[in-house]
Amino acid sequence: MPGQTMRRMKMAVKKSEPVKDQKQAESVVIEKAPEEKKPAAAKTMTKPAAPKEKKPAAKAVAAKEPAMEKKAEPESKPAAKKPAVKKPTAKKPAAKKSNAKKPAEDAVKTSVSETVKEAAEETAKEADKVVVQPVAEEPAQTAEEPAPVVAEEPSEVQEAPVVAAEESVPVAEEPAAETEEPVQVAEEPAPVVVEEPVPVAEPEEEKLPPRRSVAFIGSECYPFVKTGGLGDVMFALPKALSQQNCDVKVILPRYKCIPQKYQEKMVYRGAFMMDLFADGRSFYVGIMEYVWDGVVYDFIDNEEFFSSGNPYTNLVDDIPKYCFFSKAALAALNYLNWIPDVIHCHDWQAALVPIYLKTLFAGTPVGGAKTMLTIHNLRFQGIYSIPTIKYWSGLPDYLFNIDVLKQGHNDANLMKGGLAYADMITTVSNTYAGEIQTDFYGEKLDAHLRHHSWKLRGIVNGIDVEQWDSAKDPLLPAGYDASNAVEKKKENKRALQESLGLEQNEGKFVIGLISRLTNQKGLDLVTSIMPQVIDGNTQVVVLGTGDSWYEDAFRYYENSNKGTVCANIMYDEGRAHQIYAGADALLVPSLFEPCGLTQLIAMRYGTIPIVRETGGLKDTVQPYNKFTNEGNGFTFDRYEAGLLLDAINRAKELYFTERKQWDEMVVRDMEKDVSWDQSAKQYKALYLELRP
Ligand code: ADP
Repeated sequence: MPGQTMRRMKMAVKKSEPVKDQKQAESVVIEKAPEEKKPAAAKTMTKPAAPKEKKPAAKAVAAKEPAMEKKAEPESKPAAKKPAVKKPTAKKPAAKKSNAKKPAEDAVKTSVSETVKEAAEETAKEADKVVVQPVAEEPAQTAEEPAPVVAEEPSEVQEAPVVAAEESVPVAEEPAAETEEPVQVAEEPAPVVVEEPVPVAEPEEEKLPPRRSVAFIGSECYPFVKTGGLGDVMFALPKALSQQNCDVKVILPRYKCIPQKYQEKMVYRGAFMMDLFADGRSFYVGIMEYVWDGVVYDFIDNEEFFSSGNPYTNLVDDIPKYCFFSKAALAALNYLNWIPDVIHCHDWQAALVPIYLKTLFAGTPVGGAKTMLTIHNLRFQGIYSIPTIKYWSGLPDYLFNIDVLKQGHNDANLMKGGLAYADMITTVSNTYAGEIQTDFYGEKLDAHLRHHSWKLRGIVNGIDVEQWDSAKDPLLPAGYDASNAVEKKKENKRALQESLGLEQNEGKFVIGLISRLTNQKGLDLVTSIMPQVIDGNTQVVVLGTGDSWYEDAFRYYENSNKGTVCANIMYDEGRAHQIYAGADALLVPSLFEPCGLTQLIAMRYGTIPIVRETGGLKDTVQPYNKFTNEGNGFTFDRYEAGLLLDAINRAKELYFTERKQWDEMVVRDMEKDVSWDQSAKQYKALYLELRP
């Protein structure tokens, strides 16, 4: 395992250091039990150039993008060399634009494309010894043959931007005629009143914002693989953006742990070989596609990197894995000839994308795309020693300076580099955007973020209101909406109490906690006040996994309070739904919280959030004001156990003594807009800012 890997690393690289910021290994993924396999990186290192996958056919062509450039120049030199040309800034937006508009044929027009093509042909010729078929055509054929519905959509998606953007002009004229209709209608059937505004709304729909194409690149996405909020966002935001006239392609690793039912639906779109490490070795890159609900998902396939049971294991394996993924994602876009206006990257796992784009891919079709990097959690940055990351990434020396990748004396920080090279940085709430520029929340990148604050924005997350719909949720014993929530939530509470072995009594105040069990989530506060919270009228239900200290603490409280406290030390989607529906309140007392989704889901399910005023919690939960009877939940500001207890007691007081006001808040929360609609519009506006 890691130790073995490390040993190999040391042989291959100069030196490696101890893991710096271990990623959330605590986060559990779906069904698969951790199968713990050979550390991908280690394998990779020891193998020369063995793709180990099936069809190497496509390689020749695809190899063009990254490997292409190399060939054209120094021949024997590894990737790291060419960037010597230094292209810190993304130029040629013009060339890009034209690329983005015309999918296939016009590859001929751009000089860049021509160069690429020629080189590709040369490469292909050379590779002909091994490869027999012209790979470039495979994707198209494959797409049409096996995937009737699925595979054909992508090609439409590619072309849509051009058409739609141009069509919007003539369409804009139609509303004029329509706007006159309402007047006539209003005069004829006089009595109907409410009908009038409807036609007025139509012209708004006609004014579709300009079409933009966006490639999402990230390490997880519900329902394929999810360890936390990032997975929810990668699923819901693309869907919401498709309502904002965006073509979205989501690029993900094809982890082995993705459920078989999705694996089976993926369609092979092609494959190629790509160099990666500084020694220029090649790796297999397969592209498997799945189209669902208007969104195209492209999975980067490579068994050596993605065969582990969990998406995240340890940095020794994870950093080379995501170096590979970031570079392969860009190469795949070139390979598919799908050149987006904007590439939207997520967290440190995709933070090298903006850097690769402006260096090794600068002369390729995708090189002119604009980049946005979203910080979902600044705590995880992808830090390792410079020599090691230099080797793994194949990036040139000049990038390892203090303004880009270098941190401290000897470390490289992928997130830091991505922030420097991205055209725009966003994070998942406005408050967090400000907080991360301070020493307390900045995770040692506050100065760097202040320096780049001109391109930093905060946009609060939403939730997928179809996925989280208490009226249609098949996982609930009793569905409900705002009109019958007060009664139906009691049924859900009883069912929850029964299934968890709690005393069945709808009069009890049930507090839920659904969370990764880490110190980020304010669990020190919770565990320290548990005895005061459990007062005979209150029940506590915990769902989560993570640090063993917290797991044990909650197990202890369950054992000493049987029937009153239930510690579900597990990751269970169904149970999460049942707690959201059956609890009266949900605790989110985080030390820091970039956005937080659980409080949004809770409100949507009529469960009152009790939160600390930080990050997205502050932006989404308006504190209850008993004088005006307004607000959505109970809040406290400083990170103190006493203040959390006070907030819980205020909630209990309202629940037990002013039930009418409590019930009104339940309804108010359920009617609050927590969807992606507004936020997707804001993202779209930023895409337009990047690519007017
Ligand atoms: P984070 O991304 O920091 O973990 P968020 O609040 O942004 O926190 O997102 C957490 C997501 O993960 C929510 O969808 C929540 O319901 C889900 N979740 C967290 N823990 C569990 C668990 N143990 N079982 C099921 N779902 C969970």
